[in-house]
Amino acid sequence: MERVLHFIDGEFCESVDHRTFDNINPATGEKIGVVAEGTKVEIDRAVAAARRAFKTWGKTSAADRSVILHKIADLIEQNLDELALLETTDTGKPLSLSKSLDIPRSAYNFRFFADFVKGMSTEAFEMEGVALNYALRRPVGVAGLISPWNLPLFLLTWKVAPCLAAGDTCVIKPAELTPMTATKLAEICKQAGLPDGVLNVVHGFGPDAAGSALTEHPDVDLISLTGETTTGKAVMKAASSTLKGLSLELGGKNPNIIFADCDLEDALETTIRSSFVNQGEVCLCGSRIYVERPLYDTFVERLVEKTKALVVGDPLDPKTNIGALVSEEHRDRVEGFVQRAIQEGGRVLTGGKRPEHLSKGAFYEPTIIVDVDSSCEITRQEVFGPVVTIQPFDTEDEVIEAANDTSYGLGATIWTSNLKRAHRVAGEIEAGIIWVNTWFLRDLRTPFGGMKQSGIGREGGVHSFEFFSELKNVCIKL
Ligand code: NAD
Repeated sequence: MERVLHFIDGEFCESVDHRTFDNINPATGEKIGVVAEGTKVEIDRAVAAARRAFKTWGKTSAADRSVILHKIADLIEQNLDELALLETTDTGKPLSLSKSLDIPRSAYNFRFFADFVKGMSTEAFEMEGVALNYALRRPVGVAGLISPWNLPLFLLTWKVAPCLAAGDTCVIKPAELTPMTATKLAEICKQAGLPDGVLNVVHGFGPDAAGSALTEHPDVDLISLTGETTTGKAVMKAASSTLKGLSLELGGKNPNIIFADCDLEDALETTIRSSFVNQGEVCLCGSRIYVERPLYDTFVERLVEKTKALVVGDPLDPKTNIGALVSEEHRDRVEGFVQRAIQEGGRVLTGGKRPEHLSKGAFYEPTIIVDVDSSCEITRQEVFGPVVTIQPFDTEDEVIEAANDTSYGLGATIWTSNLKRAHRVAGEIEAGIIWVNTWFLRDLRTPFGGMKQSGIGREGGVHSFEFFSELKNVCIKL
């Protein structure tokens, strides 16, 4: 049985009061570990350690930080099999996905920022004959990094890597449902020679627990959260008392717009992924599919056919496409959304239930719902599971209006072979990231983040450094 500990000031430890909570494998329902449950006491200790460590880490050169970050990336790659198994056991996602996406991308997050930090520069402004201004970039201090359960190590390293590269220190609060790879990352960081206190991990819950203790802590300068929009609002409120810098990556209800002139095979292949990869538990999944009417019947028929062919089952089986949802509670929540969609007139074309061959575990069939409109809960709320709706549309204006009729603004996908239309529609859609004829293709230098209630701030490349560092201007009289 796995014992998952905090990592504070370079040491693995239990909570002072020995409080713990159980860790469950959602694919089997079995208890697989016991996790130390941190409270304000552990957060206080971790923040104090991070503050002490900042005095020296904040002054190391970018080149030295880069070397350590590359070592961390090497060690993640060397431990790929173990990390992938931990991730799959915690989340229920297919092992093939953990091995091909989650863990390689986690290593790449470190490599990318290790290289990027060495090329960072700042601006200079000359006031001819009067003065010279130049900007200096400096780390901010202690960052609280709060991560979700859907891509645990992938999204955590997306924060940790730029944080450490910029010279900040951190206290991590991993999602309570998926604690294992964060503790393993701490082990790797220690092995890579990261000084004690630079990275700390405190496990525990969010509201009125370790999470809120971190966001309220007066000695924490920055909070970077990836999570639900409601959590973003609570964190923003808590962080306001000491005016912390905030980066919020929140929920999405992303439109996937398919014009009749698209490459149908490409659109279908990609839509299967953008709908159901990782059991639909990806913030960028396209859960609202809009299809231009001349293609509607064909598209629906072909997507249903492909969806029925997906293999739902044991995450460890290489043939599995869709594993378990992250918990029984989340599975019930997803099922509730589908039931209410049916009550609102929705028609389930495939899925909508537990797979017959899987009597236990948090499994749910990939589900396609039609005959809904933009007033239905299922088209407005984020389900965060393997459930999509498909609606027909007739005109470009109509689909733009429908796509934007949401409080979210994270991602969108457009399928068309008409270049002018692609530019036009991309310009009108209210979302932080828009893909044309592709999905989930990421260049880590580009800005990533949400509009409206999908978030505040941008991450990626220089944008991550804008958050994790501060610029000060020096003005010299000539
Ligand atoms: P969540 O908001 O429930 O939890 C996220 C983290 O916040 C967890 O570590 C949790 O313990 C912590 N937390 C919860 N309440 C808190 C509080 N009051 N104070 C401090 N910390 C608190 O989210 P989740 O269920 O783990 O993840 C799913 C959500 O994350 C979805 O809405 C999804 O869209 C979103 N998400 C967004 C992105 C993005 O890049 N925009 C990426 C992945 C997931």
